Amino acid sequence: MKKTEINLISDTITRPTKEMLSFMMEAEVGDDVFHSDPTVIELQKKVSSIFGVESALFFPSGTMANQTAIKLHTQPSDQLICDKYSHVYNYESGGASFHSGVSCKLIDGNRGMFKAQQLEGMIHDPDKYYLPMTRLVVVENTTNKGGGACWDYDELVRIKKVCKDNNLRYHLDGARIFNALVAKKEDPKLYGKLFDTISVCLSKGLGAPIGSLLLSSEENIQRAIRIRKLFGGGMRQVGYLAAAGIYALDHHIDRLKEDHRRAAIIGKALKESNWVDAVEPIETNIVIFQLKEGLDENKFMELLEAHEIKLISMGEGKLRVVTHLEFDDEMLDRVLEVLKKIDF
Ligand SMILES: *Cc1c(COP(=O)(O)O)cnc(C)c1O
Repeated sequence: MKKTEINLISDTITRPTKEMLSFMMEAEVGDDVFHSDPTVIELQKKVSSIFGVESALFFPSGTMANQTAIKLHTQPSDQLICDKYSHVYNYESGGASFHSGVSCKLIDGNRGMFKAQQLEGMIHDPDKYYLPMTRLVVVENTTNKGGGACWDYDELVRIKKVCKDNNLRYHLDGARIFNALVAKKEDPKLYGKLFDTISVCLSKGLGAPIGSLLLSSEENIQRAIRIRKLFGGGMRQVGYLAAAGIYALDHHIDRLKEDHRRAAIIGKALKESNWVDAVEPIETNIVIFQLKEGLDENKFMELLEAHEIKLISMGEGKLRVVTHLEFDDEMLDRVLEVLKKIDF
């Protein structure tokens, strides 16, 4: 990445800070397949205690953590229910059907979120043996394709009740859960007690180069260790990477509010421009906006790229900006200046 470039494509583009790197270099490591990497154990304990759950397991990616959760909760031929925007359905290469042999039933939600009532209508009666067995509900907080939207906690509680009444497991894809916790000033323990499993990413807004965790009961995590190995995710001296996660949890959570503040400012500038049709509500670090009809999003991206500003297209005339820890106030000023002067 060039020094002067402003990359707003994703919060995954961040590189470890100097401080994070030197913390990583100091890590004490061992062979984690033999459960003897002390830094991995420390990270797993740290995240379990933040969410008030029994146990946690370190994964190379959020995708593998989610896919392990799906495998943990289902049998081949079962069905899971999620929003039509959900990452597990859209962006995990069809893994639910490949790894677990399950189908996804999609809810037509709002910005990646749905109501307990909508869920109720989609659950199959287990006595109707010719229908796929509904086994699992997956929600995402914040929603990725939904523009960083945060769930209303009370709705998540209502969904939990529907799950309980219908003997369904409940998984939270919490790739950006810390953005939601910071934006809504919520206690992570409220989430820990609500879900059967939670996946958490260290490599999004928290700025670690790699790493996710799956949180659950001790019993589930013991089973997840076998599934992770089966999926090829057993790792060795990976404490160096777990150390990046520990550093991120200690230093990069509070500052997420800076990402949220800058995203809101960009959203406001976009709203004021005469080539933007609509900006979706901004709750965290993601800004999704729609160009006016007839305007070409690829041409728009080229224009910005000429000013060394990168963002990403979501298709159908929608574009996305994501703020992150390498995007500072000086860069924000440059972006605002460019947005003001481009004539499109
Ligand atoms: C990024 C992301 C994941 C996991 O992605 P990896 O790139 O595999 O770590 C899962 N869910 C959501 C909502 C995400 O944004």
